[in-house]
Amino acid sequence: MLSQEEQSIVDTVRDFVDRDVRPVARELEHGDTYPEKLIEQMKRLGIFGLAIPEPYGEVAVSAACYVAVTEQLARGWMSLAGAMGGHTVVAKLIGRFGTEEQKRHYLPRMATGEIRATMALTEPGGGSDLQALTTVARRDADGYVVNGTKTWITNSRRSQLIALLCKTDPNATPRHAGISILLVEHGPGLTVSRDLPKLGYKGIESCELSFVDHRAPVDALLGGAEGHGFAQMMKGLEIGRIQVASRALGVARAALDDALRYAQEREAFGKPIWKHQSIGNYLADMATKYTAARQLVLLAAERYDAGERCDMEAGMAKLFASEAAMEITLNAVRVHGGYGYSTEFDVERYFRDAPLMIVGEGTNEIQRNVIAAQLVARGL
Ligand SMILES: Cc1cc2nc3c(=O)[nH]c(=O)nc-3n(C[C@H](O)[C@H](O)[C@H](O)COP(=O)(O)OP(=O)(O)OC[C@H]3O[C@@H](n4cnc5c(N)ncnc54)[C@H](O)[C@@H]3O)c2cc1C
Repeated sequence: MLSQEEQSIVDTVRDFVDRDVRPVARELEHGDTYPEKLIEQMKRLGIFGLAIPEPYGEVAVSAACYVAVTEQLARGWMSLAGAMGGHTVVAKLIGRFGTEEQKRHYLPRMATGEIRATMALTEPGGGSDLQALTTVARRDADGYVVNGTKTWITNSRRSQLIALLCKTDPNATPRHAGISILLVEHGPGLTVSRDLPKLGYKGIESCELSFVDHRAPVDALLGGAEGHGFAQMMKGLEIGRIQVASRALGVARAALDDALRYAQEREAFGKPIWKHQSIGNYLADMATKYTAARQLVLLAAERYDAGERCDMEAGMAKLFASEAAMEITLNAVRVHGGYGYSTEFDVERYFRDAPLMIVGEGTNEIQRNVIAAQLVARGL
């Protein structure tokens, strides 16, 4: 599905991952260290610009290529793929819905990684029922005054730009008609109020953001018209969910590769353990699930590239790939025996990283709701 140029981008990222990421990922993970050097290398490789077309960026790739690049990064260290996930959604949001001025202002510097972006949807009171959000941007003569709290926001400190989902009309009915996206920058009234401790996804900060009378100019409103934020974000989440599914592929692939190698090296009862049928069966099931998941993710990418609505396909891809990653990483732990539980091996990291993909970008329960609603509305 990839052009020659796209394949060479994927090959370059794969080499970067094998040469520069895999040898240091374990140490960075256990130190919970922000991967400054690797992020700088990703900027130089043009990874932050892959979703930004000309004239604002240099090379915008197909969603299938984006899937492959994300999978490679996550194969090395899921945190790196996470560092460019929200950034891509925001780039797509601005590219699709932004005013010409917003595109010119942000996209060229987002393409180089000089500006990195994140999105702020989730609140302490809930992330699944987005229409119930309580962060309010009140319009006055000089612009917007923002009050509220967001939580679990990835890259909060290191993103200069935050796509904030908020209510510009808290009394609107239906509720989504009062929701807008503001392109917010750090400044007075916006504080990163708490770093959230977590199971995996180390090195990349996940934080609470507090807005207290934070001022944003009128032209921070995405697209220049209020009330479209919910629909805009739902569209943005299509690529977001494809991205999370691709991260699941990368983690699953790393777990499968490690288990396959280990099963050939490790011997028990006088033979390599893969020759014991139980272990061979694990490997067969892991490879089968991974391959099936990959096909679903590529199907969603194909529909995305065709410009078709793909919330159902993106939901299926995220649901299946993340559940497969959970199973594959657990089986990789089993194949490694006691060493699967050791922090001197990588499989315990895959096992801790996999659950994020069942929760992030909309939980898998929410994906099932989306899939069922679309099945009824438009069929398979
Ligand atoms: C490491 C990490 C990074 C994240 N990064 C970001 C980020 O950058 N930006 C951002 O905005 N958010 C981010 N999130 C938040 C994430 O998107 C939310 O956690 C997720 O959407 C779920 O919201 P919640 O935690 O409030 O769970 P809730 O909405 O409280 O849900 C709790 C449970 O109820 C289920 N549930 C709720 N409603 C329904 C329903 N209608 N049908 C069936 N089941 C239902 C859920 O599936 C879940 O099992 C991140 C989360 C994590 C853990």
